Amino acid sequence: MNKVQHYINGQFLDSSCGEFFDNINPMNGQLLNKVALGREDEVNAAVAAAKAALTGEWGQMKLNDRIAMMYEIAEEIDRRFDDFLEAECLDTGKPYSIARHIDIPRGAANFKVFADTMKAVADEAYRMDTPDGKIAMNYSMRKPKGVIAVISPWNLPLLLMTWKVGPAMACGNTVVVKPSQVTPSTTSLLGEVMSKVGVPAGAYNVVQGKGSITGNLLTAHKDVDAITFTGETKTGEMIMNACSKGVRDVSLELGGKNPAIVFADCDMDKAVHETTRSCFANSGQVCLGTERVYVQRPIFDEFVSRLKESALKLKLGIHNDDSVDMGPVVSKTHQDTVLKYYDIAKKEGANIVLGGGVPKMEGELANGFFVEPTIWTGLPEDATVVKEEVFGPCCHIAPFDSEEEVIKMANDTDYGLASTIFTENLDKAHRVASQIDSGIVWINSWFLRDLRTPFGGMKGSGIGREGGHHSLEFYTELKNVCIKM
Ligand code: NAD
Repeated sequence: MNKVQHYINGQFLDSSCGEFFDNINPMNGQLLNKVALGREDEVNAAVAAAKAALTGEWGQMKLNDRIAMMYEIAEEIDRRFDDFLEAECLDTGKPYSIARHIDIPRGAANFKVFADTMKAVADEAYRMDTPDGKIAMNYSMRKPKGVIAVISPWNLPLLLMTWKVGPAMACGNTVVVKPSQVTPSTTSLLGEVMSKVGVPAGAYNVVQGKGSITGNLLTAHKDVDAITFTGETKTGEMIMNACSKGVRDVSLELGGKNPAIVFADCDMDKAVHETTRSCFANSGQVCLGTERVYVQRPIFDEFVSRLKESALKLKLGIHNDDSVDMGPVVSKTHQDTVLKYYDIAKKEGANIVLGGGVPKMEGELANGFFVEPTIWTGLPEDATVVKEEVFGPCCHIAPFDSEEEVIKMANDTDYGLASTIFTENLDKAHRVASQIDSGIVWINSWFLRDLRTPFGGMKGSGIGREGGHHSLEFYTELKNVCIKM
């Protein structure tokens, strides 16, 4: 692929003004392809196509046919697995070892799960007595919300985009997707899948472009009925503002600064294994990652040295080497951001247990945007890297003494997305889980996802829950019908 285009009303298109921007391979800093930059013409055309499709062939499709089509989309993603894998890994720099097991299979699963959810949805019904001695029956029905703008980030591009497109389409909505400008390819590739399986034109549209241009135009468009967004909290605030115009619904999945809590009675092997994943997987670019690790004092030194030993085994390298655990971070801009935080940690007096800089890479990878897996100790709780989301392969480890103290430390954050707890004491696990202010709590595990469960964050980590039938609350309007008999 040497250019990535928009997909509007069933057609692949360049921008009307012919503008493109560069998509850079984060593994070597080389140009991967040129991406069409969407402006007013493309956003207007995509929203108009999505609006028309609501009453066209797509809008008139029977539920069973729509559900069957969701399955066909998933099956076509599976058939084109290798194309999606390569495109995703080249855009993000993530290794096959991650994308093969997480990103691409979840991209397909997001269509099947929400097709199943839609099939199983039950409507409410209530019989009531009327004041004149008769009876009335109330029943609820769901209606698609309309044109949904889907704005997605770069860390898990296909997975997070389909997490919204899957339920939105299963509910009968039409979508206009604006993927991150850094990872445009798999969203465009999904357009090929939609064409192949015969999804009616206008149901799935993609406008490529930058957040400050294309994203802004899309969120401000009056014919967009609701916006679902995953990304940074600051961007989420802007999008929420845009939604106030026209009183449109918004779902926000935002940043995190998630705690991992390791009690002295944990299974140490399990805690080290899972915390290695939660700090360094996907080069730390996971909203659910645990950049704050709290370890009970009796096992503090042992845990720090075991986590260091485990992180030292992570192999950095190129995506198609199956022995590689970690790729670069996604862009030069993001590498600079992460390295800026590494410098701040040093200046604020962190004890650097591991890493803290740029690793030495060989050959073309020397120009890639790699950063070292990094572990700090010794910072106070108000230090910058303990407070702010770095979104890189790093963590700060702090000791604690009591359960009460660690709950306070864990909750002392503006975010509330996820947390992990390691203990072999069941009572303690439940007790602590119930007191942590986060939308998701994992006990003795991390990133175990059942797609039927509610997913979302508290505080600055977002608004609303998606997943299973919770997604239907956002992607449909509920209507009550009352019949007097
Ligand atoms: P970002 O907010 O910079 O960008 C996300 C998307 O918003 C991109 O498509 C971008 O182009 C677009 N955008 C930017 N400015 C916009 C504007 N003014 N109007 C409309 N659209 C705009 O986020 P990112 O850097 O791509 O992703 C990383 C962030 O996402 C981290 O904070 C991470 O924690 C968060 N995240 C959260 C979840 C979750 O489920 N809660 C999942 C993944 C990532």
